[in-house]
Amino acid sequence: MTDPKIYGVVGWKNSGKTGLMERLVAEFTARGLTVSTLKHTHHQVDLEVPGTDTHRHRTAGAQEVVLASTSRIAQLHELRGEPEPGIATLISRLHPCDLVLIEGFKSAPHPKVEASRAETGQPLFANNDATVRAVAANHTPKNGAVPVIDLDDTKAIADFIALDVGLMPDVPETPKANGLKNDCFALPPGVHWTPVEEALATLRDRLAPVTDVETVPTDAANGRILARDHMAVRSNPPGANSAVDGYAFAHATLPSGTPISVPLVDGRAAAGGPFHGTVPAGHAIRILTGALIPDGVDTVVMQEDVQIADGILTIPAAPKPGSNARAAGEDVAAGALALAHGHKLRAPDIALLSALGVAEVEAHTRLRVGVLSTGDELAAPGSTLDVARTYDANRPMLLSLAETWGYEPVNLGHVADDRAALAVAFDDGATRADVILTSGGASAGDEDHVSALLRDSGSLHHWRIAIKPGRPLALAQWNGTPVFGLPGNPVAALVTTLIFARPAFSVLAGGEWLEPLGLQLPAGFSKKKKAGRREYLRARIGADGRVQAFKSEGSGRISGLAWATGLVEMSDEAQEICEGDPVRFLPYTSFGLV
Ligand code: AMP
Ligand code: MG
Repeated sequence: MTDPKIYGVVGWKNSGKTGLMERLVAEFTARGLTVSTLKHTHHQVDLEVPGTDTHRHRTAGAQEVVLASTSRIAQLHELRGEPEPGIATLISRLHPCDLVLIEGFKSAPHPKVEASRAETGQPLFANNDATVRAVAANHTPKNGAVPVIDLDDTKAIADFIALDVGLMPDVPETPKANGLKNDCFALPPGVHWTPVEEALATLRDRLAPVTDVETVPTDAANGRILARDHMAVRSNPPGANSAVDGYAFAHATLPSGTPISVPLVDGRAAAGGPFHGTVPAGHAIRILTGALIPDGVDTVVMQEDVQIADGILTIPAAPKPGSNARAAGEDVAAGALALAHGHKLRAPDIALLSALGVAEVEAHTRLRVGVLSTGDELAAPGSTLDVARTYDANRPMLLSLAETWGYEPVNLGHVADDRAALAVAFDDGATRADVILTSGGASAGDEDHVSALLRDSGSLHHWRIAIKPGRPLALAQWNGTPVFGLPGNPVAALVTTLIFARPAFSVLAGGEWLEPLGLQLPAGFSKKKKAGRREYLRARIGADGRVQAFKSEGSGRISGLAWATGLVEMSDEAQEICEGDPVRFLPYTSFGLV
């Protein structure tokens, strides 16, 4: 994320500036921006009230006090005579956001809007402060220098700020409020064969999330994409504890000389069963893994390294101070970033969030992926013996892929090569899905009705991508819903889905742009290719560690897709591969295929 935009709200007391701040935060948040605020104060605020726990910690000398609950975290940092930090330093403490609204800090140089009410009877700052760019007033002040906007017209004030600061110059025009521009799939004019990298860069550039946000219990959030940064609600570990089963003592109170013997106190410290007393100097206590370190001790020896006789612990020599004791928060401190927005939750992430007390997450709703097959020749698998019919392989494949990727598969069925029927299917898809994946009819031939219909609807961008297999990709929007028109051939459909649709869908779903992690491995085959198109071969790693290519490059050979465990990627340029040469192997798993 780039640096946040910064805008201030100033005004005399009772000028309505806090009310304006409040309305602006709500307005910008509703526009899909993340907003943070900074407030300058000269007086005591509620967090500083004497007698509260935090006040007591603070006045006792704590450098920082973090006040945390399941819904928010406050951090009090004591300056203790150090100069007040400037705005840049304060903003650097915030998590990334789009806009920082600042209340107060009148003399700082950032641009500001001044709130003004006639009732205060005060002159305008705007009269002699060039950083004030507009006045939001409930009256018509005598001022010719800057625009005056109605104090109650939050939208107009927000528009002014957005324009002044360069936020969101383009308002999306699509009927569905999905953040995509109408022409998001447009390629530069005059381009005939688009290289794969350029097609990917265009997608990466133009796409934005189209999903909603909902609260999900963490234990049901596997595969979900975080819509916000999530902070540790409490530290891990929450208290200092023992890393081993053994005996604990205060290192500094051990007698000198070796071996070392100290008496054991009665009782023990166990996980979930802390020792409540204080261990006296020169004494040791039985402690088990995960137990809180009792008062009076700081070091643990493993039980394998000690001898016990008659209530006396003997160790051959003193360990290092603090051995086998884990400090509170040594892994993650409360308030620290646990996982950032855009992160897709996997089992280890669920463990982390759970350990840090994040019981629910703000996640994107699952991307609804609509899958539609087109073609007169298609029939449901097993439904006919007619050899003129082709069993529909793409729809079950693409629905399975959507499911594997953690999205919600939406079966939009099969339609014949009939434009009116296709239009009905697209209408249906645009309401039931966030993105539509079609296969077949995406070229420019007579029977390529998907292309023809999308062209007629005005939103088609036909991408002739320099890729084999694959080539035509029809990208469009139907009533604002993005449509990916894939080639009908199942081999080409799978390759183009893995290469183009996978990263694109991740962004549409609120996640990161994805790139497969390739391995350089020796080729177990030889091949010569011409310049001009990037090629993907169905491939797998043989027992000798070399990459085998499928025996036929024929694009009708669906068996090769199932035989393969990945793809070999051959560069756009001419290339001659001899056995043993390194090739780039992209395992299916690197495309999230399991
Ligand atoms: P098209 O892109 O419509 O010209 O189709 C190219 C080839 O892919 C033709 O041989 C089609 O029969 C085949 N095909 C199209 N859709 C599917 C599908 N859903 N399942 C299997 N084969 C298909
Ligand atoms: Mg067809």
